[in-house]
Amino acid sequence: MIHLKTEREIEVLKESSLIVGKTLGEIAKVIRPGVRCKTLDTLAETFIRDNGAIPSFKNYNGFPSTLCISVNDVIVHGIPGQNELHDGDIVSIDCGAKKNGFHADYAYTFCVGEVAEEIRNLCDRTKQSLYLGIEQAVVGNRIGDISHAIQTYVESFGYSVVREMVGHGVGRNLHESPEVPNYGQKGSGPKIKKGLVICIEPMINLGVRNIRIDKDGWTTRTADGLPSAHYEHMVAVRDNGTEILSTYQFVEEVLNK
Ligand code: MG
Ligand code: MG
Repeated sequence: MIHLKTEREIEVLKESSLIVGKTLGEIAKVIRPGVRCKTLDTLAETFIRDNGAIPSFKNYNGFPSTLCISVNDVIVHGIPGQNELHDGDIVSIDCGAKKNGFHADYAYTFCVGEVAEEIRNLCDRTKQSLYLGIEQAVVGNRIGDISHAIQTYVESFGYSVVREMVGHGVGRNLHESPEVPNYGQKGSGPKIKKGLVICIEPMINLGVRNIRIDKDGWTTRTADGLPSAHYEHMVAVRDNGTEILSTYQFVEEVLNK
């Protein structure tokens, strides 16, 4: 069942979303070669709690951390440890925060130091596919229109789309209906209606689409060890068009300095 949100609920979601956006901005300030993933996680947890919110991911189905930190061939659900980031890494930072009963959940892939052009392109095009998907998230379309837009764009570069994990509705629960796959047919899936709030999150691999999961039960990697990029936005379908509730503003302020 899809829980459509009221205008008031969407405003509350925006508040949670702003905290995640600012948390990612704090990460952007310190992410560099040599920083430990655990340090980033602690910083995020402290920032979220200082802003009166609760980390959404910590203890979710037993996940141990505030952030999912997914480096290079890790697609999603990387557990932050004492490992350091290196020059040339790409790192998906996925963050969730709950305030006033509503969750925000979104992600940005950072380049650490100098990243090879081929891999920077993977990141830029994955981000672009997210915006192409968002353009399709309008009243009257179907979820499959979002999926199809993402898939056709990234596959035109020879990249592949992860199938096992998908976007989702978000609200009082971190993961709600409907599922939002990053692959699929135009005109398929649930209808997009006013009040729909979804996370769209392409997970795009440089090589094969297949995955494997580490023994920790979380860390999800590409089967061929090639890098994967991941961006996620939260969007709300409203009367006056579709609004992106999440924001990369605080990240980009730091990165463009
Ligand atoms: Mg998500
Ligand atoms: Mg996420």
